[in-house]
Amino acid sequence: MEKNTEKRNQQKLCKRCNQTFSPSSNTSSSCRFHPSFFVCRRHDDQKRYYELGPDDPPYAAKFYDCCGAEDAEASGCTTSFHVSYDDD
Ligand SMILES: [Zn+2]
Ligand SMILES: [Zn+2]
Repeated sequence: MEKNTEKRNQQKLCKRCNQTFSPSSNTSSSCRFHPSFFVCRRHDDQKRYYELGPDDPPYAAKFYDCCGAEDAEASGCTTSFHVSYDDD
């Protein structure tokens, strides 16, 4: 009996955010992630995260394609359930 309890409370690794979580406390707001990739190219004009200054060259910027965050470490713009490697 105790073994079953242990299994249910076992920490799992989320393949999306790489954090460990316990399935019993996995809610729709547990996982923060970016649904798109961190890319390196020019911002689309509509999606531009910041205004280029008059002296800024239009060089490629690195940013998340989903929300325009330019910091690779920026916390996710979307929340959902964690997804473990056991899930399909
Ligand atoms: Zn994002
Ligand atoms: Zn996660």
